[in-house]
Amino acid sequence: MDDCLFCKMVAREIEPDVVYENDDVLAFRDINPQAPVHVLIIPKRHISTLNDLQPADAALIGKLSLAAAAIARQEGIAEDGYRTLINTNREGGQVVFHVHMHLVGGRRMGWPPG
Ligand code: 5GP
Ligand code: ZN
Repeated sequence: MDDCLFCKMVAREIEPDVVYENDDVLAFRDINPQAPVHVLIIPKRHISTLNDLQPADAALIGKLSLAAAAIARQEGIAEDGYRTLINTNREGGQVVFHVHMHLVGGRRMGWPPG
């Protein structure tokens, strides 16, 4: 999609710090990390928000979780633990409107979220 920051990363018009990639998914380090490990995992195909998901996207969204687990192992935080989350729209704190899963870890996470 034109004018989408994360689509530009998929197209490598902007070069992200890639940690994982397959045919459907790209994952790269967050530019403003909130934890020692902070990776964004995105579908390569543009989907704006979770509200826009279609039943046919079920497998694709599942692949974000599979990628998160693979990256957690790769980063050495799988056993200690980590958090995955997807922010949606204003109250969810979404600022980039291309669905992305945050993978954060490397420190103890607070709960509930602020
Ligand atoms: P959201 O608030 O939409 O869930 O998360 C957007 C995330 O994208 C934020 O954590 C922010 O730091 C990250 N971000 C924004 N611009 C860039 C960028 O140009 N490069 C990278 N790697 N991350 C970005
Ligand atoms: Zn996009």
